[in-house]
Amino acid sequence: MLVETARAEVVHIFSVDLEEYFQVNAFETSVPRDDWDRMTSRLEASADVLLDLLSAHETLATFFTLGWIADRHPGLVRRIADLGHEVASHGWWHRRVTHCTPAEFRAEVVDSRAILEDVAGRPVYGHRAPSFSIVPGSEWAFDVLIEAGYTYDSSIFPVHRGDYGYPGAKPDANRIERPAGDILELPLATTTVAGLRFPAAGGGYFRQLPYAITRRAFAEHSERDSPGMFYVHPWEIDPDQPRLAVPWLAKLRHYRGPEGRFRASRGCCPSFDSRQWNGRIRKFVYPFLPRARDRGCTQRRGVLRVGI
Ligand SMILES: [Zn+2]
Repeated sequence: MLVETARAEVVHIFSVDLEEYFQVNAFETSVPRDDWDRMTSRLEASADVLLDLLSAHETLATFFTLGWIADRHPGLVRRIADLGHEVASHGWWHRRVTHCTPAEFRAEVVDSRAILEDVAGRPVYGHRAPSFSIVPGSEWAFDVLIEAGYTYDSSIFPVHRGDYGYPGAKPDANRIERPAGDILELPLATTTVAGLRFPAAGGGYFRQLPYAITRRAFAEHSERDSPGMFYVHPWEIDPDQPRLAVPWLAKLRHYRGPEGRFRASRGCCPSFDSRQWNGRIRKFVYPFLPRARDRGCTQRRGVLRVGI
């Protein structure tokens, strides 16, 4: 059992993958990594919206942050840490595990952890692979994480997907035993319909699917006394981000959501009222989240309560 007091109140986890809109894998051929420094940053304004929401709801979150971001935005990362949120690693270059050799992945997680600890001024315990890319066949990544000193990972999406997912993986927090030792895994939230497991942890699923699916997933986690993992990206709440010339599927995944619905309902209105999106988070997600004052500790310490 992850949390001793789970019977009284299951503590779900709100996480943010802290990255720029142009760093998603779907755009990596349109915006090569060599071009990242030439792109206009839009991260801080969106991150501040999320920080304000979290503050208004007295909720702490985990920010899985790129080393590249910490290098360019140390003030933001420090501010996140100073507000009591947990800073964790999302690698350095947003490279999928499946595109790395073990040595390259080691550099990703070692270098990012070093700069995040330096900038945030506190230890980094957690890791999330870009695009949830620890999939069947790349379990060696857990050994690398254990050897690099990580306490937990949150990369496993226990679903069938074409480009990611680990079908058959445990849907609840569990210890993964490897030759290098063991590591706590906090998988992304899912829901089960007719015996099949579906993703429902946030991101595009939250933006594009009926909210009832998200609600069902977290209710199921509560019933199992199992913390559910929710995630969002700052670019998902940025209505004014540049529209990149990318393939239609990438466009659909990246841009469709409340904005699209808003545009449809207003008859092709080019603007987007971000209050609608914020209200959606406030109305639907926050009731499931713990209040910081009730937890009386940071999420990091919550994880440590597992006994690692
Ligand atoms: Zn990411």
